[in-house]
Amino acid sequence: MKAAVLYELNQPVVVEDIEMEGPKKGEVLVKVAATGVCHSCYHAVTGTIRFPLPAVLGDEGAGVVEEVGEGVTLVKPGDHVILSWVPSSGYCLYCTQGYSNLCLKARQSERGRLFDGTTRYKKNGEPIYHFAWVASFAEYSVIPQESAIPIDKDIPLDKAALIGCSVTTGVCAATNTAQVRPGSSVVVFGAGGIGLNAIQGAAIAGAEKVIAVDLLDTKLEMARQLGATHGINASNRDPIPEIQALTDGLGADFAIEAIGANVTFEQAIRAIRPRGKAVWIGVPAQEPLSLEPGILGGEKMVMTSTYGSARPRDDMPRLLALYRAGVLKLDELISRTYQLEEINEAFDDLLNGEVARGVIQF
Ligand SMILES: [Zn+2]
Ligand SMILES: [Zn+2]
Repeated sequence: MKAAVLYELNQPVVVEDIEMEGPKKGEVLVKVAATGVCHSCYHAVTGTIRFPLPAVLGDEGAGVVEEVGEGVTLVKPGDHVILSWVPSSGYCLYCTQGYSNLCLKARQSERGRLFDGTTRYKKNGEPIYHFAWVASFAEYSVIPQESAIPIDKDIPLDKAALIGCSVTTGVCAATNTAQVRPGSSVVVFGAGGIGLNAIQGAAIAGAEKVIAVDLLDTKLEMARQLGATHGINASNRDPIPEIQALTDGLGADFAIEAIGANVTFEQAIRAIRPRGKAVWIGVPAQEPLSLEPGILGGEKMVMTSTYGSARPRDDMPRLLALYRAGVLKLDELISRTYQLEEINEAFDDLLNGEVARGVIQF
């Protein structure tokens, strides 16, 4: 089976044949149809997200169930599925409270292994780990049945793949984490794969003003196509005065940070009004963040967002319904498709900001 494996930090990913075992109890073998090239994978390449190596990367995929292990009841062979990077148990403390994105069973498992503590991938007898449960940079992936989210068969799988990470993380950060209200103002820092989706999430939620902040005019242009009403290029200026001018001098109701840099974490707080809410989606860099005392004055709220506070089994089919209704844009997000062998080139394009989303098709 062909897969893209990361052996060492900051090295190119190796596309090669590896050994794969079939699904065990409670597991599902998926023939991957398409997988998005997501920044979270690149965070694994640089070590910003720590993960055991070697690992098959890929956290945003969709495909067709080929085979199921003993005791699998949630899907059957032939089902089309999105691969969720949180295999929500449905019964833990957080799942029962409605926060299945924070499933304890998933969080308390050892990274890179399936629930029984082993991997299904090997090379020369040595284990290869599963990145983020999904490991979709491979022709096949073995996942827990809880990670297989069944979808209707009329949805093209390359579009469905995007729901597996960036669309859900971005759109639901606006709708679920921030809980953007109709008529409100929203600033989104970063118009990359996640930020563009936070922008369309804010627009879908009925925000009156959706202000995109980025360093590239090309991305601000994409942001407008996805629902931004204003764009600010912050490459040579502080965006805060302009945000205030657009929001009656008060600041925005909501700010969403989709970069993962200390400067924008802080700007997100400065951009909101008293009682406003700043949502940090970006994966934080390693340096500590120091803030001026009083920056949160006026009951400002800051919240992080994991998987857009989404309940995958509920929100993912809902997002596809919005796509079918023409409300959620997915086709427009895919700027380039690649072969698995071109994965390192796809990462380069991601870093250069040349693509909204690159998708690998099998
Ligand atoms: Zn991702
Ligand atoms: Zn759970």
